[in-house]
Amino acid sequence: MSGASVVRTRFAPSPTGDLHLGGARTALYAWAWARRHGGQFVLRIEDTDLERSTPAAVQAIMDGMHWLDLDWDEGPFFQSKRMVRYRAVIAQMLERGTAYRCWASTEELDQMREQQRALGQKPRYDGRWRPENAARTGLTPPAGVDPVIRFRNPDVGSVTWDDLVKGPISIANDELDDLIIARGDGTPTYNFCVVVDDLEMQITHVLRGDDHVNNTPRQINILRALGGQEPVYGHLSMILGPDGEKLSKRHGATSVVEYDAQGFLPEAMVNYLARLGWSHGDAEIFDRHELVQWFDAAQISRSPAQLDFDKLRWVNAQWLKRLTPVELAKRLEPHLKKRGWSEAAMTSGPDLPIACALVFERAHTLEELADWVGLFYVPAAVTKADRSTHLTTAALAAVASLAIKFKVLDEAEWSAGPITATMKSTLAEFSLKMSQLAIPVRLLVFGQAQTPSVDAMLAAMPRATVLARLALAESLS
Ligand code: GLU
Repeated sequence: MSGASVVRTRFAPSPTGDLHLGGARTALYAWAWARRHGGQFVLRIEDTDLERSTPAAVQAIMDGMHWLDLDWDEGPFFQSKRMVRYRAVIAQMLERGTAYRCWASTEELDQMREQQRALGQKPRYDGRWRPENAARTGLTPPAGVDPVIRFRNPDVGSVTWDDLVKGPISIANDELDDLIIARGDGTPTYNFCVVVDDLEMQITHVLRGDDHVNNTPRQINILRALGGQEPVYGHLSMILGPDGEKLSKRHGATSVVEYDAQGFLPEAMVNYLARLGWSHGDAEIFDRHELVQWFDAAQISRSPAQLDFDKLRWVNAQWLKRLTPVELAKRLEPHLKKRGWSEAAMTSGPDLPIACALVFERAHTLEELADWVGLFYVPAAVTKADRSTHLTTAALAAVASLAIKFKVLDEAEWSAGPITATMKSTLAEFSLKMSQLAIPVRLLVFGQAQTPSVDAMLAAMPRATVLARLALAESLS
C-alpha cells in the first residue's frame, strides 16, 4: 500500500442485495474522487453479518460496478476473512485499557434504560463494568457468562470533523456511550471493523451515505484510540423517490442492473447518478472523463436528491444520440436476443446499424429502440381502428398501383429519391394527399402509422420485403 499522502477512497457495501442506486452513486463519487486526485479506489465487502450476506449479492454488486465501469485498484477485501486481525486489535485494546469486558446482561441493560427514562435521562450504558467502576462497586464477573467488549469512549470534550459535504459537525462525547466492539462470542461489530479497515487500508477520504453520520463520531474516537488519524468524511444525502418519499421498489427499479435490462446505457447512468446530487455549472451531459476532471466536493449537494425518471430517460436519449449506428447495434443485440430474435429473421430487413440510424432519434432507451427497429423485421399487426380509418378502398387501390410501380423500378433506383417520386406520381393519379398514401404504406410495411420519413424507411428495406408486405393489401381490399 502506498503512503498516506496519496488519496485513497473506498466503497464498502454490505452484500445483502443488488447494487442500488444510492450505493452506486456512493461508489461513483468515491471512484471519481480517487481518479480526480490520481489516487486509489478500494473495494471492501462488509460481510460480517453472515446471515444477511450472500455470495450472490457480492456478485451482483460487482456486476453493477462492472456495468458502470467503476474499476477498483485494490480488493475486493472481505471483512469475513479479516477476523483474526480484528481479534488481535481487540486484544491489544484490552491490554492498553482502551477497551474492557462487560458482563451486563440484557435484563440488566433494559432495567438501566428504564430507570434512566424514568428520570428523564437519555438511555445509555452507564459504564458500570469499566474496571475502575467495577472495582469501586465490587462487581465481579458472573460465572459462565461470556462478556462483550466495550470501547472506552472519552468522557469529556467532543468529536468534531469538517464534513466534506455537510460542513463542520460536532458531537459531545457525553452523548456517546461505550460502544460494544465485540459480542459475547468474540465476533467484532460493524463499527469496529470499519475503523480497523479504514485505518489499515489507509483510507484518506470516506464518502458514504448520510445514514452513517451517527457512526462517525464513534468511529473517530476508536480510530484515535488506535493511534490513527481520521480520514476526511463526506456524507452524501439520500436519494428520494420522485414524490419526495424514501426510495423504494414502488417508485420503480432500485437496482442498477435493472436499468441495464430496461435499456439504459451505463454512460447515461453514470452521467445521471453523478448529476443527482452534484453539479458542475449547468453541465447536464458529460462523460466519465469530464466527471473525473470536474469532480469537486464543494459542488456536492447538501439536500436530498430526488429521482426524476423523465430526466433519466432524457439523459439516456442524449447518450443514444452520441453512439454511432454500429455501436448502437452492438448495444441493442442483447435486447433483441432477449426477444428471441434470430439473425435469420433479420434478413427480411436492413442491416441492424442502418435500421438503428433511421429510428434512434425516437427512442429514449434501448428497449424502445428495439421496439422501433422491430418494425423493419417483424411489423406489428395493424389495429382494427387503423385499418378502418386508413386502409380505405381508395387507399388500397392506390397502394396496389404503387406496388406495381415499385416492382418495375430498377434495383439501382431502390432509394429514397425514386421512391418519393413514385409515391408522388401515384398520389396524383388517385387524387390523394401524401398522408393518405404514406400512412397506409407505413401501416402495411411497418404496422405503424407514425414512423420517420417513409421514403428513407422503405429504401432501407429489401425491396422484396416491401413488396411482400404491400401485397397484404390485396387480402384486405
Ligand atoms: N457497509 C456500509 C453500508 O453498506 C457502508 C459503510 C461505510 O461506508 O462506512 O451501508
